[in-house]
Amino acid sequence: MTDAHDALSTRLVHATGGDRHSGGVHAPVHPSVQYAYDKVEDLIGVFQGKVKGSFNYARQGTPTTAALEAVITELEGGTGSISFATGMAALTALFLTLLKAGDHLVTSARVFGNTNSLFQTLEGLGIAVSRVDAGDVAAVRAALRPETRMVFAETIANPSTRIPDLEGIGALCREHGLLYVVDNTVTSPALCRPKHFGAGLVMNSLTKTLAGHGEALGGAVTDTGCFDWSSYPNIFPAYRQGDPRGWGLQQIRKKGLRDMGGTLSSEAAHRILVGMETLELRLKRSSDTALALARHLAAHPAIAKVHYPMLDSHPEHARARDWFGGGSWMMAFELGDAGRLVDVLNRLRLPLKATGLADTRSLIIPVAPTIFWEMGAEARAAMGIADGLVRLSVGLEAAEDLIADFDQALAA
Ligand SMILES: *Cc1c(COP(=O)(O)O)cnc(C)c1O
Repeated sequence: MTDAHDALSTRLVHATGGDRHSGGVHAPVHPSVQYAYDKVEDLIGVFQGKVKGSFNYARQGTPTTAALEAVITELEGGTGSISFATGMAALTALFLTLLKAGDHLVTSARVFGNTNSLFQTLEGLGIAVSRVDAGDVAAVRAALRPETRMVFAETIANPSTRIPDLEGIGALCREHGLLYVVDNTVTSPALCRPKHFGAGLVMNSLTKTLAGHGEALGGAVTDTGCFDWSSYPNIFPAYRQGDPRGWGLQQIRKKGLRDMGGTLSSEAAHRILVGMETLELRLKRSSDTALALARHLAAHPAIAKVHYPMLDSHPEHARARDWFGGGSWMMAFELGDAGRLVDVLNRLRLPLKATGLADTRSLIIPVAPTIFWEMGAEARAAMGIADGLVRLSVGLEAAEDLIADFDQALAA
């Protein structure tokens, strides 16, 4: 048993407590879809929510996904979490169950490309979306309307590494009673607890920082307990029962997980739990390496610009230093001569030419012609995505090996 004062790694390696029945040190992987009860009264009680922590059909969760959710809730300092098959499934369930036609959402203009694409789908369903420079809380304030229901931001924007005024937006949302949703994927709860800024809901792609091994997809939504759901107009009458602190998550679990069905498998939940045991070690190592490499590239004559939050030159360096105490594994850079881009990336020996983030291996990708291609040049320019921008997810290779590899690739 650990307590709240233990260091993060201590808590993480003991987080699930293993399997009480067998003494196995990992939480068991439960493959069952059906969960049976000796007495039909108990089965009825489970369906009516009167038997807490019980299972009926695995689309709504299994003991293994529940074990994972408990650890994420503890890490985020929340009141509860729901896991999903992917980060995008988590975001889809969150937006579609809490917003309806006529509502308005304010989002940072700099968000993950697929999240931006999802916002276009929401617009098609009659939900208005305003994309603003969330680095400045005044821009968020100016976008608010009477029908605004939600404000959305990422802690460190993918791939620009820009950091919104998370604190100012939190204060603004509190002032207006607005639901504040923060995507904590890049920082993870090891660097940032959005609850401190007043976020009501936190989303994590478990695929990235939390699992860290690139062999399982997953996502989660956590309720921090900061938001007063009794004032939220879009809660269905069926879920306006009992303690209002549980209403939002209850609606996302029923309408989002149960009805939309983007459920995490027990097998993937287990793999993510194993990855999370080394979260603190991995994040420290890749953050240190990323900073060393960012400093080296910033001083390199072939590089025009390096985007990394822990560089003094980063526009929100003070926010990264004071709020996160680290920059995470994601950096981006621009070559002085964009025409050399393909050649330089092909010469790199270590980083894999692949999309994806937070693997043990470094991953590199030119942004504009790949992950931000579909949206077109105009939208890219609005999001600050230069044609020569390269995203690098720094893995667990040694800093000196990565630096030597970039030196040889850039020298040619
Ligand atoms: C990858 C990512 C997502 C989506 O997560 P998946 O698990 O890949 O669906 C959402 N937000 C951010 C910031 C991401 O990097």
